[in-house]
Amino acid sequence: MDNSCEDTRFALWEKGLFSYKKVSYPVRYGWFHEIVTRRFTCQFNLNGEPRFFKLNSNDWPHPAEWLGRTLGNDWLYHATLGYSDTFSLTGEYYYPFLPYPSNNIFPGSPLGLPVVRDGIRMAGNVYSVAASLLGQGLVYGDAERAAMARMARWSPGRLRKRSQELRAILKATVPVLPPDTRHVAYDVIPVMVMEGCLFNCGFCQVKSGADFRVRTRHEIEEQLYRLRDFFGEDLLNYCSLFLGQHDGLAAGVETLCLTVDAAWHILDMKRSPFPRLNIFVFASARSFLSCSPGDFDRLNGLGCQVYINIGLESFDQPTLDYLKKPMGACEARDAFSRMIEVNRGYSNIEISGNVLIGPSLPDSHMDALEETVCDLLPSYYPKGGLYISPVQGETRKRWVIEGLHRLKNLRRIDSFLYLIRRL
Ligand code: SF4
Repeated sequence: MDNSCEDTRFALWEKGLFSYKKVSYPVRYGWFHEIVTRRFTCQFNLNGEPRFFKLNSNDWPHPAEWLGRTLGNDWLYHATLGYSDTFSLTGEYYYPFLPYPSNNIFPGSPLGLPVVRDGIRMAGNVYSVAASLLGQGLVYGDAERAAMARMARWSPGRLRKRSQELRAILKATVPVLPPDTRHVAYDVIPVMVMEGCLFNCGFCQVKSGADFRVRTRHEIEEQLYRLRDFFGEDLLNYCSLFLGQHDGLAAGVETLCLTVDAAWHILDMKRSPFPRLNIFVFASARSFLSCSPGDFDRLNGLGCQVYINIGLESFDQPTLDYLKKPMGACEARDAFSRMIEVNRGYSNIEISGNVLIGPSLPDSHMDALEETVCDLLPSYYPKGGLYISPVQGETRKRWVIEGLHRLKNLRRIDSFLYLIRRL
């Protein structure tokens, strides 16, 4: 439905794509609403919250670049940076500039530009444009007025409270998402199945520090009922779950399967117009190695695509010691070897691994990485991948890109940059 008045046009229940694709232009997924004025274009989710925004003026950095708002109420800037370079770096056709400290490798950010800061200010005020359209009687039809009223209620204060409400439901923050969630444009429903992690490594900036604990079935189901109410109408736009927090696999395959089954019913995910359900979970080398073939059979038979991301960090003992990661290099190597086996053997499971990069790490780190990859993968294998995560505070762009290219040039496994991105 498309309506216009003077210089403002709005369209309700616009249809985006219902399968995720890697394309070199901005695409939207699921259903969304849109308001376009001479000054800006804003797209809203089905709850009426602003999701994407850009100014239509000539001083906006690039017509294909947008601000995107997350569930945590952060506005990110999606930059193209010359599409092919961005793809080679991240596996995606855009680079997200984040408004909080992370391991970004580019000095400066478009978020500092006056025009982008104006855009963020204006995006916070877009609810008043929706209210004005309603107030002037320019929206016809009950369903249309109800949709516009939803857009008109999200003042900046209410949006802030909403992200706090989500944290209260999860009883946790999500300081980092698995890198593979890029395959679904980071559109995941977070469900916390456990707390803490097995290692509490010295170098890690995202750990909660909480004691390791698996949440009970009752806690998980209660969380799902509250998430159902929280996502409301916009549930229809989701087909993916992130089963957190830092080592979801350590909660046990039984807990993961129970959670997926409960989510399927409580969140009524069969209504999703997307073709399949995706599950994302972090693992440690230890929780991954403790899974039996029967566990992988169960995950493979869940009827969804399961993505497991393992924090390997390094195959070099001096580096693991330097990082204060209480794990042996042989454990990391065994987990990588198993990762290759599982990727080959299970069509509905895809495993990726994370390794660190940084100029302060021992020289032996990169050598061990190259040696292990070449030893265990005699030729290129297209499934899974290795993500290179710059150590926070050690994000020298040239250094990181050269390290990534060393790995890519082995031509054994897909390798991309991993940016620490929160929910
Ligand atoms: S790197 Fe992973 S296992 Fe280590 S402290 Fe951080 S979250 Fe926990």
